[in-house]
Parts: sequence; structure tokens; C-alpha cells
Amino acid sequence: MIKAQLAAIRSSLPATTVLIAVSKTHPIERIMEAYEAGQRDFGENKVQELVEKYEALPKDIRWHMIGHLQSNKVKYIAPFAHLIHGVDSFNLLKEINKQGQKNGRQISCLLQFHIAQEDTKFGLSLEEAEAFLAGPEFYLLSHVRICGVMGMATFTENTTQIRQEFQNLHAIYQQLQSSYFSSNSEFKEISMGMSDDYPIAMEEGSTLIRVGSKIFGKR
Ligand SMILES: *Cc1c(COP(=O)(O)O)cnc(C)c1O
Repeated sequence: MIKAQLAAIRSSLPATTVLIAVSKTHPIERIMEAYEAGQRDFGENKVQELVEKYEALPKDIRWHMIGHLQSNKVKYIAPFAHLIHGVDSFNLLKEINKQGQKNGRQISCLLQFHIAQEDTKFGLSLEEAEAFLAGPEFYLLSHVRICGVMGMATFTENTTQIRQEFQNLHAIYQQLQSSYFSSNSEFKEISMGMSDDYPIAMEEGSTLIRVGSKIFGKR
């Protein structure tokens, strides 16, 4: 089941797109099924669950922290997180940098933008991001690597709206790329698209899709 779902999704993706299997709430055995089918990128949205799964599972898994992250919990995932998707404040970025330094590594991050018409979703506005990207402090952060942007569309059946929101995120990416990262080839990722909307996200330029229920079934 998991293996067949993974194969079906992968066959619809260009080779350059990374499929992140969102394993939140699912037990180790089900994650191992995906691992044995060749899956290596997994996403979790809670720090404690992420740490427990990291400890229990093979060490060549690339763990993506996709949920809201509180500054006081960065230290638990700083030793191993492959990519932190939900950076939604400069304070959080500074804390990730501090923990990166402590662990002797540069931690890869995405800036999360609020693109949905819902207050429940986290994220920066373009203005907020530009305020710190243009500031003097940003250049001192040598233990974070900003690899791109992340966003979540509104939970709606309206595909026109979803597409519009993904287009907005793509435009934000392009704006930041040309203004702040034009000499930085690592700024190349757009994390957008989940089980119900990833085909639209792909059409709008997503490079990382985060798919849970379509692989593992209902939570
Ligand atoms: C849960 C979650 C997903 C996956 O959602 P599905 O609808 O199960 O594919 C993707 N991104 C984030 C941030 C999530 O929290």
C-alpha cells in the first residue's frame, strides 16, 4: 500500500522534485515501510515526535521540520535536522544560528510566508522578511543557510484560489532571489503542495512537496 502510493506519486514528478513523506502521527513500522521502498526524506511537525523518530530510525533519513517551531525547542533538533521549513521570524532564525554554531554545523532553513486567507496559518509577509534580510544583523548569521521559501495554501476546494496563492509564493521567491540572493545558488527551493494540492503546486514551480495522507492514509 505505502510502497504503491509512493511509486504512483513519484512517477508523476520530475526527477528534480523532492518528495517529502509527511509521517506525523504514524508509527515507526509504517515509516520503515516507506524507507524500505527507498524513501529518505521525511517530514514531521512536532519537535518531540521528530526527536523520538530520529532516534529510532536509520540515520540516513533526511528529517524535515515542517511545523511551527518555537525558539526554545530549536536545540533539540539542531544536531540533525536536514531542513527547517517554518522560519517565520528573525528571532527564530537567530536562535537556529546560535544552535548551529553550538553543534558545529550550518543549518538549512526556508522562510515561511503567509499566503493563505486564513489566520490560523503561520508565516511572514514579504515586508517582514525584507526588513531583516536588508538589515546588518542578517549577514552575521554564518550558521544558517537560507535555501528558499515555504508556504501553505488555504484549505479550500477552490483551485483557482489555491493556484493564486502558490503563484504569490513563487513571486515572493523571485523577488527575494533577485534582491538578496542573486549571488547565492543555494537559494533555490520552493516548498509548497500537500496531498490535495501538490499537482497545482508542481505546475506553479514547487521544488519540494510535502505529502502525508496520500502516502500513509488518514491520520
Ligand atoms: C501535515 C502537513 C502536510 C501534509 O499534509 P497531507 O494533507 O496529509 O498531505 C504538509 N505540510 C505541513 C506543514 C503539514 O503540517
